[in-house]
Amino acid sequence: MLTRQAVILCGGRGDWLHPLTDSLPRPLALAAGRPFLWHLLGQLRDNGYQEVVLLTGYGGDMIADAFDDGAVVGLRITYRHGPEEWQTARRLWDARALLQPHFLLLYGDHYATFQHPRVERVFREQGRLGCITVHPRAARANVAVTDGGQVVAYDPSRSVSGLNAVEIGYSLFDAGIFHAFTGANESFDEVLERLAIAGQLSAFVQRDAFQSVSDLDRLAVADAYFTPKKILLIDRDGTINRKAERARYLADWSEWRFVPETLEALKRLAAAGWSFVVISNQAGVGRGLMTAEQVWELDRRMKEALGREGVPILGSHYCFHHWDDHCLCRKPQPGMFHAASRDHGVRLDRAWYLGDDPRDAVAAWRAGCRCAYIGPPGDLDALSEEERPAARFKHAGEFAHRLLTE
Ligand SMILES: [Mg+2]
Ligand SMILES: [Zn+2]
Repeated sequence: MLTRQAVILCGGRGDWLHPLTDSLPRPLALAAGRPFLWHLLGQLRDNGYQEVVLLTGYGGDMIADAFDDGAVVGLRITYRHGPEEWQTARRLWDARALLQPHFLLLYGDHYATFQHPRVERVFREQGRLGCITVHPRAARANVAVTDGGQVVAYDPSRSVSGLNAVEIGYSLFDAGIFHAFTGANESFDEVLERLAIAGQLSAFVQRDAFQSVSDLDRLAVADAYFTPKKILLIDRDGTINRKAERARYLADWSEWRFVPETLEALKRLAAAGWSFVVISNQAGVGRGLMTAEQVWELDRRMKEALGREGVPILGSHYCFHHWDDHCLCRKPQPGMFHAASRDHGVRLDRAWYLGDDPRDAVAAWRAGCRCAYIGPPGDLDALSEEERPAARFKHAGEFAHRLLTE
């Protein structure tokens, strides 16, 4: 059984958003014309959540006015309101009687790609009282996570050594964590610190960029991210162009052949306002069979040829690593998807990846986006249920038709 109840901490005022929050609580700051919290609630609904508890403080009446009983976002929302001066642990402690044995906890000012079953799996397999989601980065790290997924330090002062990730919410908890509360007016950070010390905290690593409203610059990034875009992520060899023969790599423009159905599909999509980002493994470089310069020269010629047809390629991401390098970018790893998201503000849970290889489907799933698969169906047999592509098509033309009639 998946966790079905979420709790969102919405009590913060966030003076650093001044002058915006002189009148608005932080979760109501607008991103792409909607309150930041609206995006979070929609994401929870899309992940199968039905019930949300909002813990409000500053501007709580405005939040309740905006979302009421939750019907406007397809959820059941209840509110627990507390004084402005309450800190986060105090708010949760106050709401403990409303909470189910397992619940998801979010911060009302953080948003990240969320695939509920993946976080739930880590939570259950690790068997600790809590599983937090972390983003691996050195700057402002407040968590130390082992390779085995245990949080061995949670340090809000960011002073101990070995910190290697930052906590971003999307945490699953067992109600047993309330034994680590004191009931005092303290920050939830202090509870997490105690849980880490007690060996009761696991981590799910999410490498995709996350959004926040912590300052006006970040709010501008979030605004761009949530603005709907017509950007299709697309594989190269076998999808845009004919593959080289087995065990060979395409290194020369004279050998380039467009897949005719794909070329037509891209032209139709481009005419409807779509643009494209290429994501492609090119291990021939790592294997010493061609050079990165040759790949980029081919890329330049491809963009030029497509440009003449009115098809805009916004960018290309290539992995030049050998498979023995075990990099984070070579498909089925999702690293290039994260880079595409960062560079072009692509919201992965709204995006499609068009590809012809089972690894394309797995990489897309790991990145949290949908794969439109145009390869042989038999090749998918080795994939697990969740790794399978969201949709299969005979060729790119069929997929374009679906996109244009959606
Ligand atoms: Mg391919
Ligand atoms: Zn790589």
